[in-house]
Amino acid sequence: MTVTLNDMTLPSWASHVEDKLAPMPLLLVQAFVDTLDRDLGTDIFAHPDEASAWLADASLRVPDPGRPEPGFADDLRLAREARDSIRALIGRNTGTEPLTADDLAPLEKILGQAQPRLEVTADGRARLGPALPAETLADGLLGLLLIIRDAQADGSWDRLKLCGNPDCRWAFYDRSHSRRGAWCDMASCGNRVKNRNLRARRAATPA
Ligand SMILES: [Zn+2]
Repeated sequence: MTVTLNDMTLPSWASHVEDKLAPMPLLLVQAFVDTLDRDLGTDIFAHPDEASAWLADASLRVPDPGRPEPGFADDLRLAREARDSIRALIGRNTGTEPLTADDLAPLEKILGQAQPRLEVTADGRARLGPALPAETLADGLLGLLLIIRDAQADGSWDRLKLCGNPDCRWAFYDRSHSRRGAWCDMASCGNRVKNRNLRARRAATPA
């Protein structure tokens, strides 16, 4: 299923992203992190049914046909932890602190559980990846890490950033020529933070 937005056809799993979109397939990493919208106070992964549907739609996990899904609580926890880790990875592009062992632990869990496969395709390309669609969530999340690896190799990774508003931290793709974009949206976060800083400076200035 696809939805059309601003003359661009977006996959349904990215329909909540709306603006400053990364190119495919990095868009999947952006959409995964932005399943949490602190500004609106919404979280797709806060609701098991919604999370299961989103992960299946994004081909990151095949839901068990029988319901209720016994293993899903563990998967949902891993998805939320991995989302925090990948957000921390993106934060490095705007100079946040190096990742701690706690930040990295969920990614190590994925690497321990996933089963990557090297395939050589009929057109002669060697491809490393999980089986598609991913059978387990760990395989699906390994696919995200491989997308990150490729984006780091081709340079597009550096443009994926977190909004400079500490209350927002939305992942956005900086297409600006200067590569100095700092806000998911200037009208909301940019001006909000600037006004807040201005008020703080005025408050600190003796009358
Ligand atoms: Zn923002």
